[in-house]
Amino acid sequence: MSAANRLEVRDLHRSFGGVRAVSGVSFTLESGDLLALIGPNGAGKSTCFNLLNGQLRPDAGSVRLDGAELVGLPPRRIWALGVGRTFQITATFASMTVAENVQMVLLSRARRLFGLWRPASACFRDEALALLARVGMDAQADRPCGVLAYGDLKRVELAMALAGDPKILLMDEPTAGMAPFERLELMALTASLVRERGLAVLFTEHDMDVVFGHATRVLVLDRGRPIAEGTPESVRADARVQSVYLGDEA
Ligand code: ADP
Ligand code: MG
Repeated sequence: MSAANRLEVRDLHRSFGGVRAVSGVSFTLESGDLLALIGPNGAGKSTCFNLLNGQLRPDAGSVRLDGAELVGLPPRRIWALGVGRTFQITATFASMTVAENVQMVLLSRARRLFGLWRPASACFRDEALALLARVGMDAQADRPCGVLAYGDLKRVELAMALAGDPKILLMDEPTAGMAPFERLELMALTASLVRERGLAVLFTEHDMDVVFGHATRVLVLDRGRPIAEGTPESVRADARVQSVYLGDEA
């Protein structure tokens, strides 16, 4: 693991036609950060994620990982350099087991590093089980992903993201569709992973209990523009944030 793990985002811009989806967004993410990106629907959160992981190219701005520019690199390359994202549900293979899904990612990473190729079933089972134990899913390692409860699947997705050995982890609505207690549990797990692995996490979340309970910092977007950044306490107390965002969030 690298010592630094520093993502510097400077003055990102991206429009779609006449819509300024992201307009002048800057922030820095470092080891130990659990930064919540919040804002109403359409504020530009998902666009930010897609700009950071290479799925979209910014009109202007820079994204540097430990000093190296990422803008212009393809998503696979950005992933290989250490910017991971939680897999969406469609990214797990329903007929494969929980362990095999994690092994796939471990294999993919090993092939990238060492040009290794072996059948997934023979490779990295112990490593996969260790990651699954960390997210509390080792007991279900040999079940097909297709039969898992929704909250369990989200934890497998987290294990798959960790299998890529990220420095920076992007989580766009990681708890969407989960029950309230499961959301808090998943974010508590994420927070402990941040501490033990020196990870830096950027996440979006609608549930304000989760945001204010676990984020180390909060960045608020409104129509593409950053309107506040700071500790959960300072952001919660910000009058502009309250009128733009928290006021209409029931
Ligand atoms: P959020 O994730 O905060 O809800 P998004 O980043 O998805 O917001 O969207 C920000 C704005 O950009 C919205 O107005 C949305 O309609 C627009 N937008 C996002 N992606 C596209 C796209 N691929 N094409 C056109 N408009 C888009
Ligand atoms: Mg979104």
